[in-house]
Amino acid sequence: MASESVRVVVRCRPLNDREKALNCKMVVSVDTSRCQCFIQKPGTTEEPPKQFTFDGTYFISHHTEEMYNEIAYPLVEGVTEGYNGTIFAYGQTGSGKSFTMQGVVDPPSQKGVIPRAFDHVFETIQCAENAKFLVRASYLEIYREEIRDLLGRDTKQKLELKEHPERGIYVRDLSMHTVHSVGECERVMELGWKNRSVGYTLMNKDSSRSHSIFTIYLEIFNTDADGEDHLRAGKLNLVDLAGSERQSKTGATGDRLQEATKINLSLSALGNVISALVDGRSRHIPYRDSKLTRLLQDSLGGNTRTLMVACLSPADNNYEESLSTLRYANRAKSIRNVPRINEDPKDALLREYREEIRQLRALISGQLGSTGINCHQPEGTPANGPRPQSNTADVDAEKEKIKREYEEKLARVQVEFSAEQESRAKLQEDIAALRASYETKLSSLERPRASRADKTVEQFCGASAEPADITQDMFKESEGSLDDSIAGGHGKERSVSDTVVVATPAPVDQTHVLERLQQLEQEFVGGEQARNEELRKRRRQRKTLASQRKKQLVEALSHASDDGESVLLNVYDSIQEEVHAKSRLLESTQGKLKAARLEIRDLQAEFEAERDDYLVTIRRLEQDTQLLQGIVERMAPLMRRDCNYSNPDRVRKEAVWDEEGGVWRLPAVLVQKTALPAAVPPAAVNSTSRPTARTNSASDSSELFTEEEEEDRYKEMLDRSDSENIASNYFRVKRPIQLLAGESKKSLAGTAPPRRTSGSASSGTEALLPRPFRLESLGILPITVKARRKRSKAHVPCDGT
Ligand code: ADP
Ligand code: MG
Repeated sequence: MASESVRVVVRCRPLNDREKALNCKMVVSVDTSRCQCFIQKPGTTEEPPKQFTFDGTYFISHHTEEMYNEIAYPLVEGVTEGYNGTIFAYGQTGSGKSFTMQGVVDPPSQKGVIPRAFDHVFETIQCAENAKFLVRASYLEIYREEIRDLLGRDTKQKLELKEHPERGIYVRDLSMHTVHSVGECERVMELGWKNRSVGYTLMNKDSSRSHSIFTIYLEIFNTDADGEDHLRAGKLNLVDLAGSERQSKTGATGDRLQEATKINLSLSALGNVISALVDGRSRHIPYRDSKLTRLLQDSLGGNTRTLMVACLSPADNNYEESLSTLRYANRAKSIRNVPRINEDPKDALLREYREEIRQLRALISGQLGSTGINCHQPEGTPANGPRPQSNTADVDAEKEKIKREYEEKLARVQVEFSAEQESRAKLQEDIAALRASYETKLSSLERPRASRADKTVEQFCGASAEPADITQDMFKESEGSLDDSIAGGHGKERSVSDTVVVATPAPVDQTHVLERLQQLEQEFVGGEQARNEELRKRRRQRKTLASQRKKQLVEALSHASDDGESVLLNVYDSIQEEVHAKSRLLESTQGKLKAARLEIRDLQAEFEAERDDYLVTIRRLEQDTQLLQGIVERMAPLMRRDCNYSNPDRVRKEAVWDEEGGVWRLPAVLVQKTALPAAVPPAAVNSTSRPTARTNSASDSSELFTEEEEEDRYKEMLDRSDSENIASNYFRVKRPIQLLAGESKKSLAGTAPPRRTSGSASSGTEALLPRPFRLESLGILPITVKARRKRSKAHVPCDGT
């Protein structure tokens, strides 16, 4: 499979008013014909400027229109053919990323890449012959490593990233919106943009602090010259990244610091992914390090055509940031992707819709037996059983004719609609009127046929108990699948054909079928301007321009690379000429060597600066952690002691880091109820009922009971005969009883002392065994009074620390 590089262009904006007021100098210059960009270090006139070569360089006077036509056009065109494409803008805040992606309305030549892509996609769709498209859009942002749906019902809700073996990485529950025209696309974009900015004004943030991704999903269905059907899918990601400047330098703390670290984290992760891909030696590509890199995984080293627009400020006070952007961009151009057409996607919604349309049409035309709809046939009736002959054929033909008429008219109305960009409401009106006339004609035909209809249906499908209800159910199901496409596609697939198969299509509710058919047909676009010669000509011109530009670029790049070789291989007329040429080469090589040395020095200085920056960030984060630690330490003693959160160390041990979600999974909050020791002499307790609980309460000091267990325990205690004496039993002086019991036993058992196993866990029964006085008198204390006390002390509740 052919691989191709990530395309990288740079765009330098004009000096802004602030920079002009500060008397800033321009340090960036470009050679458009050779696609080269130069940057001069401020205050060093003797040093040669640093030079970079890209796939395109656009300076202060260039407009987005030029850039789009030359470099973005082929990429977007590829998406309409079934490739995946990504365009992303990179650069420091205020360098022109949003200006490039969103653009401005006036002048029209500065309209952004995103609206241009809408125009382009719909232009291609309208000119397409024998093809239908399903176009959907989604808009998300990544803010502080959280994914949010800008078009969803709740724009603050965090969404999860998921991986599917066939679908790849996707965002669960991200809403998808079916769009039919440029206008709808623009409205969707504005809505998302508004949601984004509303969020930011409320939280007092500016938009450069989040990454946003607008995605257009295309499903393409076409029939080739041999009459074969093809289904393909393309996806276009339009990415506006957060500002790339070192945010920790701004002295941010708290929330701002977290925000800055997260932005740096994802952009650093992006840088690391680029480095790992370019390096070629590293097998592990750290896509998982951030949400951004996971979402762009396919765009960097995957099945996607990618274009990066590196945005620059020309001012000398932004030298470092501009240089860093140029270096980033320079590395990115070595990434190789393997784009391929996405043929026959498994989860294509378009396939489902087409299948449903086919079945609905079959229902309308009444050819039920041969449409694949599973009828319940009566025993012995053949699938294509005898049809009522006579004038039914005429009526069918008439019906077919009306249907064709209806379809033609419907298509015409739709063409008019797209061409004139009329309101949707008007189309609805036209279609309704058209449908009404169709139904009138149809019913006038149906009436004389009504008497025969039941017979026909019975012959084909057998008797149906609740035909209307089943048809209604079918609609409900099908509408659900359509809603899914609008309210959030992934993971909610429903097989339309499945729902149709179980339906018994007996007397068909024409109105509902038509409504549904119309609804489905409106989901597709394509071919409305297929005969518009002017539009086709314009498209051809644009394509030619893009391919010419590509040729120029290849030429320019080849000139740039073989300068040295040609000098060495050339045949010269005289020695002087050769010496002259070779001296020039020597000079330029020396210049390059000097530039390379300076580059090494600068890179070292930059690494130092970067390291300092990371250290500053680490120190600030440490301060933050210390503060939180201090707060936790102060708060822990104030917590209920029987709650597991009163022991932060234990919580820390039990917490687990979830790699997939990038979050800590903390233990649930538990309140541990302390078990009191037995309130009655253990001999009286049914020893088999709770042996372990008793042991644990002694050895573990506290025991966990659920509410129900606790209740049972109290019930049990109340049931016991001497339960009224709990308090007096508990505080009763046990020693005299034990002594007395010991004495009586001694008199019974003679002089033999009871055997005692050292170190055995004390049970309630054992605790009451008499202690041999004789051992004490011999100065041997096998289990000392101390130990005994300890054991009884262990009944006192404690938190286990
Ligand atoms: P970013 O999104 O990178 O933070 P913006 O796109 O918002 O930056 O641009 C900052 C300012 O610079 C805006 O006022 C914008 O109009 C202006 N600007 C950016 N690029 C250009 C350009 N190529 N020509 C004219 N003005 C520009
Ligand atoms: Mg911006």
